[in-house]
Amino acid sequence: MSDTIKRTAVVTGGNRGLGAASAKALLAAGHNVVAIYIGRVDDAHAFKKETGIDVYKCDVSHFAECREVFGAIEKKYGTIDILVNNAGITRDSFLHKMEHKQWEDVITVNLNSQFNTTRQVINGMRERKWGRIINISSINGQKGQFGQTNYSAAKAGIIGFTKALAQEGANKGVTANVICPGYIMTEMTGAMQPEILEAIRQGIPMGHLGEPNDIGDMVAYLASDKAKFITGATFSINGGQHMA
Ligand code: NDP
Repeated sequence: MSDTIKRTAVVTGGNRGLGAASAKALLAAGHNVVAIYIGRVDDAHAFKKETGIDVYKCDVSHFAECREVFGAIEKKYGTIDILVNNAGITRDSFLHKMEHKQWEDVITVNLNSQFNTTRQVINGMRERKWGRIINISSINGQKGQFGQTNYSAAKAGIIGFTKALAQEGANKGVTANVICPGYIMTEMTGAMQPEILEAIRQGIPMGHLGEPNDIGDMVAYLASDKAKFITGATFSINGGQHMA
C-alpha cells in the first residue's frame, strides 16, 4: 500500500478496459474501490468476484440515478474521496451522415456525465478539504479525429470542465486532472476495423498500442497524496502519437 490513508474511490465504467485497470491500481494502492457499470451485469459480478472490487449499476448519463447510486455508495463507505470519470462511448460517423441520436448519446454519456457524477461528490470533498477528480478524455479531444465530431467535442469539453473545476477546488484540497489516452487495447479499440487500427499503429512512434495499465498506473498516482501539487493538468499517454 503506497498511501498511508485508506480512501474510497469510485471509477465509472470500472469493470472493464481502462476503468478496470484504474480500479485495480487504486485497490493495489490500498483504497476501497467501487466500479460503476451500465449493462453487463454478469461481467460486472464476475469482476467483483475476481477482484473483490464492489460494483454498482448506474447510468452516468442520468443525473437523478447518479444522485441515488452515489448516495448509496456514500452511505456504505462513509465518503467518496476519489472519482475517476472514465465511462465513455463512441458512435462514429462523418458529420454529414451523423444522426442526431449519435450526437446526443455521445455528448450525454461522455460529457454530461461529468456534471452528473462530480456534482454528487464535490461538496463532501470541499468540506473535508481533500479530493481527487480524474477525468478520462482522449487524444481525439486534443487533436480532433475524422468520423468523431461528437466524440472529439465531448472529450475536448472534458478538458475545459476539468480546468475550471481545478481552479474552483485548488484552495480546498480538491485536485482535478485529465488523462488523454492514445490508442489502448480494449474492447473499444478492438471493435475498430483492423485496417484502420493498423494505420493508426503505424502512426504511433513507439510502434504499438498502449496497455490499460499505462492509464491505470497514472490514475493511481494522481489519486495519491504524492500528486498534491498537480491540478488542472492534462496528461497525454499515447506512445508519442500526439505531443500536445
Ligand atoms: P470500454 O468500451 O472497454 O468500456 C466502457 C465502460 O464504460 C464499460 O465499463 C461500460 O459498462 C461503461 N459505460 C458505458 N456507458 C455507460 C453509462 N452510460 N453509464 C455507466 N457506465 C457506462 O472503454 P475503454 O476502456 O476503451 O475506454 C474507457 C474510457 O477511455 C472511455 O471514456 C474512452 O472514451 C476513453 N478512451 C479510450 C481509448 C482506448 O484506446 N481504449 C483511447 C482514448 C480514450 P458496461 O461494461 O456495463 O457496458
